[in-house]
Amino acid sequence: MAEIPTPVATTASVIHALYAARSAAEQPRPYLGWSELGHPCERYLWLRWRWVAHEQIPGRLARLFDTGHREEARVLDDLRGAGVTVWDRNDDGRQFGVASVGGHLRGHCDAVALGLPEAPKTPHVVDVKTINTKRFDELLKKGMRALYPKYWAQAQGYMGGLQLERALFIFVCKDDDRIHCERVEFDLVEYQRLQARAEGIVRSAEPPPRINTDPAWFECKFCTFHPVCHGQQVAEVNCRTCAHSTAVPEDDENRGRWVCELERVVLDEATQRDGCNGHRFIPILLERVAEQVGAVDEPGGNAAVSYRLADGSTFTNGYPPHFTSREIRVGAAAPQMLGDAQLQALKAEHPGARLVSAAPAGVAA
Ligand code: SF4
Ligand code: SF4
Repeated sequence: MAEIPTPVATTASVIHALYAARSAAEQPRPYLGWSELGHPCERYLWLRWRWVAHEQIPGRLARLFDTGHREEARVLDDLRGAGVTVWDRNDDGRQFGVASVGGHLRGHCDAVALGLPEAPKTPHVVDVKTINTKRFDELLKKGMRALYPKYWAQAQGYMGGLQLERALFIFVCKDDDRIHCERVEFDLVEYQRLQARAEGIVRSAEPPPRINTDPAWFECKFCTFHPVCHGQQVAEVNCRTCAHSTAVPEDDENRGRWVCELERVVLDEATQRDGCNGHRFIPILLERVAEQVGAVDEPGGNAAVSYRLADGSTFTNGYPPHFTSREIRVGAAAPQMLGDAQLQALKAEHPGARLVSAAPAGVAA
């Protein structure tokens, strides 16, 4: 009997590819989330909030997250079935949201519940998490604050924002359906400390220090920003990585705003994601590629910012014939190219030419 060849695209791989594509199409969230504020690395939080790199989630993992979301609705239904009053939407039909730090720190809790058997008269913030057997067993031994400080911080944020004193985190074991519920008390001191942490991140025009300078450090090894922090990947080009943007306090809907100091305009979200040709990298974001050595004024109040590469050659981030930020992002794959005098002369001769690839012959007219 003839063997059945293994197909390249199996049904499973097609399903996972679907989730990977959906995840890749998702834009990074516009705000700093309470769900991540307990992350150990402040630099991570800053880079994420500034859209420095797009998170690539493999399809299998993206589907796993989706499974977790579906479980949330199921557990809330279970609570209702058990006689607990559950509100998972406010009067506007939206999830309960909290916002502070000028609208830049935000979060949405799964529900608020009243009538829980542990304390029937006390309203609780409710959040549902799914975890595997190993983590579930660890959780039983160590408790949520020790094992999941991020969730504990998240609980503080929701309680502080909704002015509630208690939270109930419901953990479901994905492998055997065990359920563990952990109640958390509001801790004003910790809530204020976490808000201050967020404020520091929002106010900082530059990324905080790395949690560790060793690229093999365990928290860095699998981090989305490893290629930026420990490699030579250059930040994405959008208003949040531009030296001209500033985060300012909220609009009427409590959403943090951003302004462009060059154009003197408030930036809507779509504009922020696109950026413009006036984009000039926050110089420290290029530190892994080159060192800033100067800046000169350009027409329209912008600046052309010069950098020196390790071999001593220089290049400039500015309007053509200098390198735009998008060209620098392309060229950083072979940084010596940016300092190449012949290439710079070619660009000066042909002001419409732009660098499109770091491979040889990577200039297009
Ligand atoms: S790679 Fe390390 S230092 Fe950089 S953001 Fe991630 S955890 Fe922080
Ligand atoms: S100069 Fe352009 S990229 Fe920079 S903040 Fe203003 S609009 Fe955004």
